[in-house]
Amino acid sequence: MDIFRSTKKFLDRAAVAAGGCSYSYGDILRGSHGLAKVITDAIGSEGSDSPRIAVMAPPGREYVEAIWGAWLAKGTPVPLCTSHPAGELQYILGDAQAKVLLTSPGLAERMQPLAEAANVHLHIVGQASIDESFPQGIDDCLDVWSPEDDALIVYTSGTTGRPKGALHTHGNLSAHIQALVKSWEWSENDRILHVLPLHHVHGIINALHCAHAAGAAVEFLPKFSPGEVWKRLMREEDPITVFMGVPTMYSYLLSHYAGMAHGEQAAARAAASRLRLTVSGSAACPLPVMHKWRELSGQWLLERYGMTETNMILSNPYRGERRPGSVGLPLPGVEVRAVVESHTTTGASASAGGGNNFPSALEGPGELYVRGPNVFKKYINKPGATAEAFDEMGWFRTGDTAVLEGTPPYWRILGRTNVDIIKSGGYKISALAIENVLLSNSRIRECAVLGLPDESQGEVIAAVVACHDPPVTLDELKEWLLDKLPPYQIPERLKVLDSIPRNAMGKINKKELRQHKFTI
Ligand code: ATP
Ligand code: MG
Repeated sequence: MDIFRSTKKFLDRAAVAAGGCSYSYGDILRGSHGLAKVITDAIGSEGSDSPRIAVMAPPGREYVEAIWGAWLAKGTPVPLCTSHPAGELQYILGDAQAKVLLTSPGLAERMQPLAEAANVHLHIVGQASIDESFPQGIDDCLDVWSPEDDALIVYTSGTTGRPKGALHTHGNLSAHIQALVKSWEWSENDRILHVLPLHHVHGIINALHCAHAAGAAVEFLPKFSPGEVWKRLMREEDPITVFMGVPTMYSYLLSHYAGMAHGEQAAARAAASRLRLTVSGSAACPLPVMHKWRELSGQWLLERYGMTETNMILSNPYRGERRPGSVGLPLPGVEVRAVVESHTTTGASASAGGGNNFPSALEGPGELYVRGPNVFKKYINKPGATAEAFDEMGWFRTGDTAVLEGTPPYWRILGRTNVDIIKSGGYKISALAIENVLLSNSRIRECAVLGLPDESQGEVIAAVVACHDPPVTLDELKEWLLDKLPPYQIPERLKVLDSIPRNAMGKINKKELRQHKFTI
């Protein structure tokens, strides 16, 4: 595992900061080595090639030690979400066949009955005896894994169904980490402010393990709060150089900024422009958010695209043109292509009676397929879903529709093929493109666009919005859109909600939204 190489070089440097305390790479390594012994003792005779070790800890030293400890015990960590309800945790503990559950003192009481029900050994991180001489034995810890060995199980976000456990090998993680460290120029001089959930690739790998593979420091906030983020970014001591978020976090940061006093705004702008790297991902970043962040900070957010199953696939460049609304080019070692259904046409030649609005498309629009060392091994316990996910040549089907366009050509994600690509009156319409326009209306705070079944048109376009008072009506919206969208892209149905429900990654479940009653 790449991180253990950096621990060797950076033993005395800060690896983790949380709650006002700082821990060096040596500290974390000693704690996790002690933990590895506990794990091995607990499951010794139950012998499994790579025992699954569930990890339930808040952001901070205990979480990192638990993951490293699981690896040092040659186990496969399965990070759990601290805000998941008991039923969901129980499902994951059982599905992953966890042997050990590592948790923090503050969560132990909550986890005890779950551990008993799932018949796993519960251990509280921080209670293992520490082997002070350990760093000398570090060389024995390098290269104990082969690239084919199981390394990590991450559950998908559950946006389109029950979360699936994606199993990554050490080879998958190494390829992914090396590609990001190189492309985004991580170094030991970086310090990331980490506010992402620690049970998804974005938080676990992009923000945490890439930093550690480069010898950088990771400073955790207990949870995302726009006020706390701004406060920390503005502090000049131990300056933050990297920030990563999902698009809704940037929206909240922008709203908080808008409410600041004049002098504070100047300090916030200076803080945002000091950041070396500011990344958005996990869902499409709305164009108004992109533009407002650029006005505030003087730099474009770096938007990238990836999935639990594949790790990161496409990224705007760290140096060079970042194009709002696009996700750039494949990361090193990754191959992609757009697969166009045989009975549809590409953007270069629109079908009769319809079109897809991408006259300059170089490839696609089509379903994005991906291949490379970053792509996961399988869904656990789901051989059928794994087999369906790959084609006969080993390409993974992302389920997302993308198009390669522009000069130089960059990929643009049009959305999930089965929910964001609306088929209406012979047209294929990207819901994300309409959402971007709706969000430029000053009365609309949040929105989601989807297709509802319709006998004559196939699907009819519906918008779900959350507004500043007073809420927009369907007639007002239609009129406002007249000079902004072609007639066949203007929503015919509207639902106004106080806010749009989102999961821990800020994602919207559009299938659930379809159940609402819409205004016609
Ligand atoms: P599930 O697979 O359980 O339904 P999920 O697909 O949301 O949930 P993740 O693996 O966390 O689970 O998310 C990957 C998906 O997120 C991608 O397939 C894509 O639809 C979306 N996504 C990620 N980054 C971007 C981006 N920059 N632009 C548009 N979509 C993105
Ligand atoms: Mg998915």
